[in-house]
Amino acid sequence: MSDLLKVQLTLSVAYRPNGLTAENLKSFLEAGIRNAIGNGLLTADTVAEVETYNMAVEVIQTVVPATGTCQSCGTPLLEGYCQDITCAYSDWPQSIPVADLMTLPAAELTQRYGVTRRLRIEAKVWDDSRVNEAGFDAALWFAQADSSDIESLQEIGWSGDYASDAVAEYYDGRHPEVTEVFNYIRAVRNTRAQTGFECSVDEDSAKAWLKVHRPGVRAILLCTANEVSLVEAQEPEIAGMWDWLDGEGNACAGSFATREEAALNAVAVLKLSEQ
Ligand SMILES: [Zn+2]
Repeated sequence: MSDLLKVQLTLSVAYRPNGLTAENLKSFLEAGIRNAIGNGLLTADTVAEVETYNMAVEVIQTVVPATGTCQSCGTPLLEGYCQDITCAYSDWPQSIPVADLMTLPAAELTQRYGVTRRLRIEAKVWDDSRVNEAGFDAALWFAQADSSDIESLQEIGWSGDYASDAVAEYYDGRHPEVTEVFNYIRAVRNTRAQTGFECSVDEDSAKAWLKVHRPGVRAILLCTANEVSLVEAQEPEIAGMWDWLDGEGNACAGSFATREEAALNAVAVLKLSEQ
């Protein structure tokens, strides 16, 4: 028997994924090479024989979007999304080819690219003299806010008070049009035109977003709306845990580690929903 001779091939491929995942591309590459090996790639149908071979396909570098601007309209991206709300890409990740975005129904985009339409939280800010107004997506604020800040928003009816002012202020310097509203207010400060501002958050889109992204906070809001109290356990052995209690004497069977968990349990047990 003759000696073994080891030969190594290094093949690296830089893909432009156009919406496909790293996992997709890995499996295409591996299947393609295995298919070629099966068809005699390694010996070119000569008398040489393959004793063994090893193949490992791995992603060595994930690709970030080439630019920070929308591939359709060129608007700078905000949190990965086109911030021009009139652009088709404002609700979908840039990984989807624009031709598909225009022609395929949402369900098919989700199936093909493994992504979903972004949930927006509609919000608006305007100065009191109504010179400027800006609509914006408040999802980013909701993603980073304390539960208590979101509860305050519900308490004030989602607009026109300190809790909603804080939402708009968060986007001052982050969102161009919101920043413009605040720039105007700063420019006319200490002049006759001095003005304040107001902000309103759309309740329905906020609740829809919370249901998906922060279900525990959503449950707390439902408890409040249904007059279910979330209370810290008083017994020393379960101090720091949370209970729920409704107005009709119903209470939880056990205590929960967090207020959100207690709220989720109350929503499930009492079948709480919007009034
Ligand atoms: Zn765009």
